[in-house]
Amino acid sequence: MKKIVIQKGKEKSLQRFHPWVFSGAIARKDKGIAEGEVVEVFDAYDNFMAIGHYHTSSISVRIFSFDKVEVNRDFWKMKIERAIAYRKMIYLFDNQNTTLFRLINGEGDGMPGLIADWYNGHLVLQFHSYGMYLMRELLVDIFKELLADRLKSIFNKSATTLSESNAFVPSNELLYGTLDEEVLVHENGVPFYIDIPQGQKTGFFIDQRDNRKMVGEFCSGKKVLNLFCYTGGFSAYALQGGAELVHSVDISKRAIEQTNENIALLGDLARCHEAFAANVFDFIEEMPDHFYDVIVVDPPAFAKHYKVKEQGIKGYRNINRKAMEKVKPGGMIFTFSCSQAISKEDFQTIIFSAAAMEHKNIRIIKNLQHALDHPVNIFHPEGSYLKGMALSIE
Ligand code: SAH
Repeated sequence: MKKIVIQKGKEKSLQRFHPWVFSGAIARKDKGIAEGEVVEVFDAYDNFMAIGHYHTSSISVRIFSFDKVEVNRDFWKMKIERAIAYRKMIYLFDNQNTTLFRLINGEGDGMPGLIADWYNGHLVLQFHSYGMYLMRELLVDIFKELLADRLKSIFNKSATTLSESNAFVPSNELLYGTLDEEVLVHENGVPFYIDIPQGQKTGFFIDQRDNRKMVGEFCSGKKVLNLFCYTGGFSAYALQGGAELVHSVDISKRAIEQTNENIALLGDLARCHEAFAANVFDFIEEMPDHFYDVIVVDPPAFAKHYKVKEQGIKGYRNINRKAMEKVKPGGMIFTFSCSQAISKEDFQTIIFSAAAMEHKNIRIIKNLQHALDHPVNIFHPEGSYLKGMALSIE
């Protein structure tokens, strides 16, 4: 195995089991290491530290083992078995009520660079590192073995997530089985169609499951506005929770079509729903004051990188100020940020400033985060990307 040596004094983060080696920490490396190759990492005194995939990017090595092990089929099979055991432990693996969940959550499952989402028999792999992408045949083989009785297809959906890689960019492709055009799933008993090849991410924002459930519990008899609705996740729960009226807004026409398809699955309840293909920033200016009792604000990542963090903070502050201004007094706001660059503390500060600027009395009902099937490696706090707050507005 080729070797990477860390600079003296730069081994601290690896000693604390953080799974990334930044390019600036490398003292020297063997010649001819290929993109995505498995390498061993040593400290300046030639002590073994870890094993990972090498890439020519700012995160140079993504570590998957801090033990000196043989990296073979059994090694990866054991990792996937552990991921399955965890989903069994949290009652998601054989749950008739919830037939979609995240099976592999990158660093959180000790497999940096790999996301695997399960949609009622259809597995979607999203590679975020070329090293993991190179292993796709082996991974498919292991998934086929471990999920044999229930697996209908495996789809690789990495065209956008690997586009910045220095190596070959794969297009989306079916790796196994047959994929239905739209897959029907249930989440906490609520039905949704998932368009795996065309949808955003792997098809659905699975991370919001628990938060959708919470929103649904507070909507009885309420007027609800779901901003940045995508395929109507929060809206469906609000309707099932007895909302008097639900309005869903997204800029994507396709997302609005899918929202309407999903809401149609709820039968009669669809009468209380209307979806708008519009820019949220225009919609929220034009909508009446104090009309909605509950507003959900779940925008796309406004700060994708640390470089644009300040801009992102302004974006979140502005949209939350508007929601606070417009919501009915005595109402609720469920607000989120999925930007990795915005920490939980940053998000609290943003909401605090928005409330101060709007001169509103606001209480935090609950701090929110991603669902249980998105476990975070304790040594990799960056994995906690979804921050949310349930607020009561006086
Ligand atoms: N809440 C959703 C996920 C939201 S993802 C769920 O539970 O599934 C963010 C969504 O915001 C995307 O669907 C994207 O199309 C939409 N979007 C991005 N910019 C927008 C804008 N300016 N106005 C309205 N929608 C926007």
